[in-house]
Amino acid sequence: MNTILKLKNVRKQYGKKEILKGIDLEVKEGEIISVLGPSGCGKSTLLNIIAGIQNLDDGEVWIYDKEVSSRQKTLRIEERNINMVFQDFALWPHMKARDNILYGLKVKKTGKAQMEERLEEVVSLLHLEGLLEQYPSELSGGQQQRVAIARALITKPAIILLDEPLCNLDVQLRIEMRTEMAQLFHSLKTTVFHVTHDPSEAFAMADRIIVMNGGQIDQIDKPIMCYIHPKTGMVAGLLGAGNCLQEGVYLSDAACEEEYCIVRYGSHSLSAMSFLPKDISADSNLELRFRPEECSFSKEYAGNAIPVTVVMSSFEGGQYRVKVETENAESVCTLCRQFLNEGEKGYIYIREDKVYAYEKADI
Ligand code: ADP
Ligand code: MG
Repeated sequence: MNTILKLKNVRKQYGKKEILKGIDLEVKEGEIISVLGPSGCGKSTLLNIIAGIQNLDDGEVWIYDKEVSSRQKTLRIEERNINMVFQDFALWPHMKARDNILYGLKVKKTGKAQMEERLEEVVSLLHLEGLLEQYPSELSGGQQQRVAIARALITKPAIILLDEPLCNLDVQLRIEMRTEMAQLFHSLKTTVFHVTHDPSEAFAMADRIIVMNGGQIDQIDKPIMCYIHPKTGMVAGLLGAGNCLQEGVYLSDAACEEEYCIVRYGSHSLSAMSFLPKDISADSNLELRFRPEECSFSKEYAGNAIPVTVVMSSFEGGQYRVKVETENAESVCTLCRQFLNEGEKGYIYIREDKVYAYEKADI
């Protein structure tokens, strides 16, 4: 597959604040890429730079073999063969759905017959039959969303950019639309660059996920790899590994397979998947991350576990969320079929491939 979009060392600053700290990435033709990251990490800024709505301070944006953006020169969005669907859809309120959708073709001075042909195609793709004469205010959120996508698709752009396209829809519709959109874009072989703060949206839509953290990229991988092999503590936390122990210590002399390391935690030690730098020194402080649903409480010690005391059990329907405290007075959660009493003692067991070890960041 050909590379359609390439960013080299893209940097952006607002005042003294660095928003993008040197972004490098490549997108292949027909791929759906989701940029995932917490609010404020620079996702929209990145998208706007790719669209040419914002200028970059340094670096380059390439579409196929043409440089479209650098400090010296920048092409407008129409000249880049890109279209964008905005977070709030940005439909023109004074135009009927039909005119909103046709706008891009009118700007290009497309012939009437061809316009009608393309309109028919996108109407059928997005199930907009019967809605063309309505104004945006007469359409539901989901219908406005479809109109916005039709408007973006009608000019057959090389790349479609989507900025949090589902966040204005209610939960049920969001779940339906994300799979529907992924199917539509895959069937059209459209290249999509999509940004979201919602991991489940990225999982449902993306061929590859780019996880952003404070203006930098932490990981670029297939969704499943980001999930089972999160390269940084931030990625793990974002993807559900909310349990975070800060008092781990690296045991350098312990024999273990390359992918794993032995971590001392209080009076016990356990094997964890290692995301440590090769040159990490003995006795370094480590952070351990794992998911509440991927650990379990037991009364007896049976390996790869740490001693804990129960703090609280809360009913979640079908199961209890149990908060426990470790010897080092750190709290973690697990899920349990039965209620556990406060003060009960036992162990939290975590399979070695479900607990991730990272070098602890200097604070
Ligand atoms: P995201 O889309 O990931 O939520 P944004 O790219 O919108 O993040 O914003 C990243 C950071 O840049 C935020 O701290 C935001 O306040 C700041 N920012 C965005 N646009 C501007 C602007 N035009 N002027 C100054 N600061 C901005
Ligand atoms: Mg944003």
